[in-house]
Amino acid sequence: MAKHDHDAPLSDTQLRVRALESLLIEKGLVDPAALDILIDTYENKVGPRNGARVVARAWSDPDYKQRLLDDPGAAIAEFGFSGRQGEDMVVVENTSEVHNMTVCTLCSCYPWPVLGLPPVWYKSAPYRARAVSEPRAVLREFGVELDENVEVRVWDSTAEMRYLVLPERPAGSEDLGEDELAELVTRDCMIGVAKARSPGASSA
Ligand code: FE
Repeated sequence: MAKHDHDAPLSDTQLRVRALESLLIEKGLVDPAALDILIDTYENKVGPRNGARVVARAWSDPDYKQRLLDDPGAAIAEFGFSGRQGEDMVVVENTSEVHNMTVCTLCSCYPWPVLGLPPVWYKSAPYRARAVSEPRAVLREFGVELDENVEVRVWDSTAEMRYLVLPERPAGSEDLGEDELAELVTRDCMIGVAKARSPGASSA
């Protein structure tokens, strides 16, 4: 049975952060909207850009990809990405036959060093339940239509195992360099609820 310890009460640090945040807002020293912008930055920009660089390198460099699949923690650490909630990484590769997606059924375990903070929907009860009970329906709602013959594998993250989906390299990206490839890699495709962008598609 995997250890799953984040339903524990807030740590001392978390309590201090909340207390400080409340106090700063109450005293008018910080604008809650500014805090939201900061959080959004970490959720949507800084964090997933790390994962995108990892994926782009795996697409470009077969040796790196092999290292990433064999020893994800070490391969990711080659970029200097490491730390809390990234200690025990597993990378699962999407192919034309297998589609992987990740969830944390019990709380919100998520690979912070490569993806940043989890999106709100990832932590929501419906996603946590339905990703397991009806993954194809969930994928359809995210706009991913899979052929019936594609096997869907759902990986339940725990305090001990964090998953990163290595999305399929999109068609038409053969001539792109690593930086351009990274632009095709979204947070959602590394959770497995989306496909990587196609080159030339607008970056919504
Ligand atoms: Fe969890």
